[in-house]
Amino acid sequence: MPALHSRRTAVVAVALTAAALVAIPSAAAAGAGGRSDRTAAVRKAVVGGHARNVIMLLGDGMGDSEITIARNYQVGADGRLALDHLPMTGEYTTYAVQKDHPELPDYVTDSAASGTGWATGHKTYNGAISVLPDGTPVPTVLELAKRAGYRTGDVTTAELQDATPAVLVAHVVDRGCKGPQSMDGCAVNAKENGGAGSIAEQLVQTGPDVMLGGGQQYFDQVVQAGRFQGRTVAQQAQATGYQVVRTADQLSRVTPGQKVLGTFGPNNLDLEWVGPTPTAVGTASSTCSANTARTASQPHLDDMATKAISLLDRESRGSRHGFFLQIEGASIDKQDHAANPCGQIGETVEFDKAVGTAMAYQRSHPDTLVIVTADHGHTSQIVETGTTTTGATATLRTHDGADMTISYATAPIGSSQQHTGTEVRVAAAGPQAANVTGVTNQTDLFFTMARALGLRH
Ligand SMILES: [Zn+2]
Repeated sequence: MPALHSRRTAVVAVALTAAALVAIPSAAAAGAGGRSDRTAAVRKAVVGGHARNVIMLLGDGMGDSEITIARNYQVGADGRLALDHLPMTGEYTTYAVQKDHPELPDYVTDSAASGTGWATGHKTYNGAISVLPDGTPVPTVLELAKRAGYRTGDVTTAELQDATPAVLVAHVVDRGCKGPQSMDGCAVNAKENGGAGSIAEQLVQTGPDVMLGGGQQYFDQVVQAGRFQGRTVAQQAQATGYQVVRTADQLSRVTPGQKVLGTFGPNNLDLEWVGPTPTAVGTASSTCSANTARTASQPHLDDMATKAISLLDRESRGSRHGFFLQIEGASIDKQDHAANPCGQIGETVEFDKAVGTAMAYQRSHPDTLVIVTADHGHTSQIVETGTTTTGATATLRTHDGADMTISYATAPIGSSQQHTGTEVRVAAAGPQAANVTGVTNQTDLFFTMARALGLRH
């Protein structure tokens, strides 16, 4: 099967060398490596003040190891992904806190606690969706932006009720409470008990202008109490001004002016790539291929990102305020859990395309703050080819034409691999980007974004 990346040619290598010798005084160039003195480019990329827009892109489970694996495979060890080109880069700590002892860290976070951290500025326990350890809801950057007059968007390749898209718009004590008929862990939040309802209901009630992803099954659940009792959450959405679309074709025909809820699958969206399954004794060297079983009517993440940026840009023209948009590559994490190297790499490469789209917008709209980060580290590690580990390994032939062996060893073979507690990359471009440099805490990102948009909190 052909590799999905094109082989580097001598011509390209020469062109890259020549380009590296030319000082390009743009912010984008500051993130590129090279042998030239980058002091002036980095200085130029330090911009304070307000941002008109914030585009935050989150690779779920996209630790430094996941980025390196994708880079090696797709563009080679000396190549650079779009996300490598952001001018300001730092690392942030991701720990959660213990539910019953919130003064103590829980060193390995999940996407719910880490998401609550960057979305609200507060640490919480694993499984919490934008509530404090005692269950108190805390406002999110998206809610504050919307209240201040910004357009808002929330995009993911997972269910829209999954942790990352949920932390921006919902407040429940357990991330599993995705629909009005799935509230077992969240009696206090249920509509019938006087709460704000499930994540699906709160997505619609908070009402971002653009919501794109999976999770149709929870929008099809029936509301149990209140004004929309007896109707589905999707019907609640339509009754409150949403146009609901289900296919990439329908999404492409959406025009600015009406809120849009796009759900393109019952659960998470389909994977971009497939490839070898790691085993205890490794695999023969092979390459990844496109997932031919992928549902053709589902948009790719970059399609959704492009549409969301375009709609929010158009809808905020002429307004004092721009927009806040979150874009998640969710299945990097899910395929790391599944010990699926090509699944994981394909999702990272597609996420990187969306980063490229956001950075292209940033170049033409420099008053936009773009952030690229992850929520936590994950399992996959590059190990020496020819060795075995206590876990499962697979070997891929990379863009360099070399073999790369990837090991999954944070859980027994066949069971779900686990998150890790490492710090992860946070990179940025635009106003306030300098605040991600050095080593910060995940909760600091909320304050950077809020400051950029001039939000009261
Ligand atoms: Zn995970």
